[in-house]
Amino acid sequence: IPAVSVNNNYLACAPLPNINDDAFINLDQGDPVVMEAYWRRMSERCTVVIKGCEFLSYLSDLSNVCWFMMPRLRDNIKRLHALVGNADTENSHIVVGTGSTQLFQAALFALSSSSPPPHHPIHVLAASPYYSEYQDEVGVLRSGLYKWSGDALEYDKDEAFIEVVTSPNNPDGSIREAVVTRSGSEGKVIHDLAYYWPHYTPITHKASHDIMLFTFSKCTGHAGSRIGWAIVKDIEIAKKMTRFIQMSSIGVSKESQTRAAKIMEVICDSYQNFGSKESDLFFEYSKRLMKERWEKLREVVDQNGFFSLPNFPRAYCNFTKESSETYPAFAWLKCNEKDQDCEGYLEKKLKVLARSGKRFGADASLETCPTATGTDLMKGLGKQGYDIYLIFS
Ligand code: PMP
Repeated sequence: IPAVSVNNNYLACAPLPNINDDAFINLDQGDPVVMEAYWRRMSERCTVVIKGCEFLSYLSDLSNVCWFMMPRLRDNIKRLHALVGNADTENSHIVVGTGSTQLFQAALFALSSSSPPPHHPIHVLAASPYYSEYQDEVGVLRSGLYKWSGDALEYDKDEAFIEVVTSPNNPDGSIREAVVTRSGSEGKVIHDLAYYWPHYTPITHKASHDIMLFTFSKCTGHAGSRIGWAIVKDIEIAKKMTRFIQMSSIGVSKESQTRAAKIMEVICDSYQNFGSKESDLFFEYSKRLMKERWEKLREVVDQNGFFSLPNFPRAYCNFTKESSETYPAFAWLKCNEKDQDCEGYLEKKLKVLARSGKRFGADASLETCPTATGTDLMKGLGKQGYDIYLIFS
């Protein structure tokens, strides 16, 4: 995905480095293809056939707030959360979106579109380091309803705000809670729980927040299907989010919804069918994969001595019934020496393209921390002859 950034009054598309150039390992993008081997094994079980006469209608279920969501997808989202125990879906409304990116925008719209409209755009905040795309997603339309106001840790105004809480956090994998508590001002929170799944982090509790965003991209690795869902407590907010999606795309592809529902069904069935092999259980397989890669990465980073990686506390996972640490889908690398241009060092000396800490709101004067986002890091690690050892040699 070309890096697009809002630059005062115009949109700039950063030139893409030649990612086909074999001399470079491009970690400046997240593409969760790490699970591909598993899904290749499951190909037959997950196949869906869609006939020419199916899915002509825009509508799915007019009795539901989210009228374009297929009941089969809704049921399987609920089934998956019930199996994993990571989110409470009772007494809430589910809204499906074209990825959680669309739902994030829908949630911003729903939380800021009051009547009469606000005098000033509502501040949108996230504690630094925050997911590098939030700023551009908030700013792209230069909306009069909301605007990006940066680091939630530095917010000191008594004005309405929306805080985005990402947990586990992209980029540093930390487990987070809202940081802004202002008694005088009206604060709303969007929880982005894209990575709150057992292969990335222990499931310590059933999350139950006002607006929770999940994505199929990170849950199973099927980013190309572009399916995300929001679990929303307040029906009025769910209605406004649905309205936003109606205005931007009149719903969400039924082909994608069908495929996502089928894949969720296969995951749940494998846990509920007595006698499934452990290597067929999706979360067990993918957790082992993430753990192995993190162990390998830590070994190399320790040997190299130039960088350090965050350490994660261990916690008991209610789903896997064992204690473990977090294994993020990206690595937040920090240069051990102050004032090092880490991004430049990786690119020029090691031919690794990473994303600078500045893009995540990190303080560049202290250190520049490149982050190898997404599971491409894992792909890079796994590539024969393109091992991480080569990166640091
Ligand atoms: N939130 C976070 C924290 C993410 O890392 C990503 C993807 N990198 C998204 C949202 C967007 O996910 P989707 O593919 O569903 O739009």
